[in-house]
Amino acid sequence: MDNECRGEGMSVNVPRSRMPGIAWPAIPDGRAATLLAIQFQLEQSQWWSPDDLAAWQLRQLRLLLAHAGRSVPFYRERWRKAGFDPRALPTLTWDDWRRLPILTRADIQDAGEQLYSTRVPPEHGKPSVLHTSGSTGRPIAAARTQLSILFWEAFTQRDHQWQGRDRNGKLAVIRHAEPGRDPYPEGTRTPNWGHARRAVYDTGPCVALNVNCSPEQQVDWLRREQPDYLLSFPTNVARLAEYCLEHGIRLSSLRQVQTISEVLRPEVRELCRRAWSVRVVDMYSSREAGYIALQCPAHEHLHVQSEGILVEILDENGAPCSAGQVGRVVVTPLHNFAMPLIRYEIGDHAELGPPCPCGRGLPVLTRIVGRTQNMVVLPDGSRRWTLLSSDDVAELRRIAPIRQYQFIQRSLETIDAMLASERPLSRDEEERLRAWLETKLGHAFAIRFIYVDEIPRAPSGKFHDFISQVAR
Ligand SMILES: [Zn+2]
Repeated sequence: MDNECRGEGMSVNVPRSRMPGIAWPAIPDGRAATLLAIQFQLEQSQWWSPDDLAAWQLRQLRLLLAHAGRSVPFYRERWRKAGFDPRALPTLTWDDWRRLPILTRADIQDAGEQLYSTRVPPEHGKPSVLHTSGSTGRPIAAARTQLSILFWEAFTQRDHQWQGRDRNGKLAVIRHAEPGRDPYPEGTRTPNWGHARRAVYDTGPCVALNVNCSPEQQVDWLRREQPDYLLSFPTNVARLAEYCLEHGIRLSSLRQVQTISEVLRPEVRELCRRAWSVRVVDMYSSREAGYIALQCPAHEHLHVQSEGILVEILDENGAPCSAGQVGRVVVTPLHNFAMPLIRYEIGDHAELGPPCPCGRGLPVLTRIVGRTQNMVVLPDGSRRWTLLSSDDVAELRRIAPIRQYQFIQRSLETIDAMLASERPLSRDEEERLRAWLETKLGHAFAIRFIYVDEIPRAPSGKFHDFISQVAR
């Protein structure tokens, strides 16, 4: 085991034993034994060379393509039209692969059940369907097998191990829930971090609170719960850290913060260090595609989870990006035979990084830049990122006492600035804000100021500080 895994709070965890009279070393049952077999291999493959990883991915992709060509009506039809027959290929090469068309979210919506396999191998377990709203407002129904859920769990365990988490600790989760669920002041409580009955490891308890509670309520709840770990959206974590800094509150039990779902701005890491002296661990996943990348145990960038997914970062012409370039994220989960997603353009942009000094061969994503809908469209039709640096945000806050902000581009010339502030802004402050926006966005848009008490989250629970409603 590498040194970094023996860091803070690493305690010994043993899987649950299913053998009467045996506690240790554990003798797990079928499902747990399979999970441990996967984990054993993941511990080794993380150190493989990029070439070895790519070679095994290609081998797995060939099986996936053959399955999709045989049993998924959507691909059968699409590839027949394109003259592509995966069964006719003696071997699969990356050149063959890159000729396959990209699958968009709109394709998935249009295809509906045509994307489901009619012959899922029974050994992969009964498929189940989950619905994702996504942040684009285009809901899709995604089918997955029990086996793909097992892989999900294996990568969850890898994350715990990489980040040296003590599974006996208490996990507090603050995320999206239907109104009335996980309510303040109590929240809800489960005895295990994951699915208790099927869990491979016993863990400490998990407590959950609805993300729509106010920062004051959330901090009050956290002070009573005294969790070791906090999992939430980056924008929510930032508000909690700011609240604690303002009110001089330390969450002394907290050992680590995990962020999910939204783009993590670098300043959130700094805020958590200042507020609670803890580090932030980010991850990149999607409900339909599973884990995409996890944070390196030794650095702040992310490692692609190549054993579970192929991630391509493509430029505007569809060619692979090189290190340092930002491109479109295109993913292919390797093991979901219920609804194969082949070269699925997930709607995000990310920057590919150089190989990691930690020695892992898993590719590096330096940062997830955001969703295409978070780019501003200029009157000439070009798009640019609106990501604000921590200096930008500090500057914004110096202009006026703004608690929350969200900019919504309504047309090529107009932007609504939604502001939750201590008080309405003066004319002078509005003018300075207008000038600040012009510099950041590269155009003098007509700005309409709208004052609200609280800016609501998207139905998915995510928060976007810039949304463009201008169609591509
Ligand atoms: Zn690394």
